[in-house]
Amino acid sequence: MSYDTRLFKLLENKRIADGVFSWTVENDELCRLCECGQFVNVKVPPRVLRRPISICDADENTLRLVFQVKGEGTRIMSEMKEGSEVEILAPLGHGFEIDVSKRYCFVGGGIGVPPLLFAAKQTENPLVITGFRSKNLVILQDEFSSIGSELYLTTDDGSAGIHGFVTDVLKEHLDEFDEVCACGPMPMLKAVAEVCKGKKRCQVSLEERMGCGIGACLVCSCKTKVGDDYAMTQVCRRGPVYDAEEVFFDG
Ligand SMILES: Cc1cc2nc3c(=O)[nH]c(=O)nc-3n(C[C@H](O)[C@H](O)[C@H](O)COP(=O)(O)OP(=O)(O)OC[C@H]3O[C@@H](n4cnc5c(N)ncnc54)[C@H](O)[C@@H]3O)c2cc1C
Repeated sequence: MSYDTRLFKLLENKRIADGVFSWTVENDELCRLCECGQFVNVKVPPRVLRRPISICDADENTLRLVFQVKGEGTRIMSEMKEGSEVEILAPLGHGFEIDVSKRYCFVGGGIGVPPLLFAAKQTENPLVITGFRSKNLVILQDEFSSIGSELYLTTDDGSAGIHGFVTDVLKEHLDEFDEVCACGPMPMLKAVAEVCKGKKRCQVSLEERMGCGIGACLVCSCKTKVGDDYAMTQVCRRGPVYDAEEVFFDG
């Protein structure tokens, strides 16, 4: 497999919630190659390691990336000027497998919600369940509505939408779709996988810590089931999307 680093033009850098930013970047060659559930690796000078960010949306010439400021790298990203050029490695990893004849339920938690927008856009009549800690962190509701999703919003503290967890809503609607795609914190993915076990196929996107993004280091190794045994696989190459049945959520 070959990987391409190209300069992308930062067309828009917009704050969309507390500490959460939305980038639109432009590149005429690479955007059209991106599939849902894949990610990109953003060079953030003067940092050496790139920052992996999921593809939130893509068209022929642009990508949308939505990120939360966690540390130095994402802080620098949040301050980059519109019109500047950014070095990005794209597209990376294996994304969601979508069968357009099926109805999907997309379950996202916090900053795990963005890649589900691009995935939901590939499907008919998606059921989308998004959960956030609080109202000030809610993102992408208008975008999911505009593609005709049956949309549910939960918050942990009840400050917006339903007071509760995404899994509460998932359990109530379990007989209304064929498969689940989920992205969010590990405890949420584990809970979603438990609800789906033996009932629905569930794909999970693991946004593990990552070093190089192209399989050259072992920072993102993850324990996965292979037959009756297990193997360590690299999230950046084999993932970030796995079948939930393959993942040892407890490490
Ligand atoms: C495949 C993949 C896709 C991702 N997609 C997105 C996305 O769409 N939007 C987004 O906001 N983030 C995403 N992330 C996480 C993002 O890459 C990290 O938050 C970012 O690299 C942190 O860099 P930093 O320099 O700001 O923070 P650092 O200084 O490196 O770390 C600051 C703090 O953030 C924590 N942290 C760092 N990386 C992660 C991680 N991967 N998961 C949880 N906590 C972490 C650290 O433990 C530390 O407490 C993704 C990660 C992966 C592997």
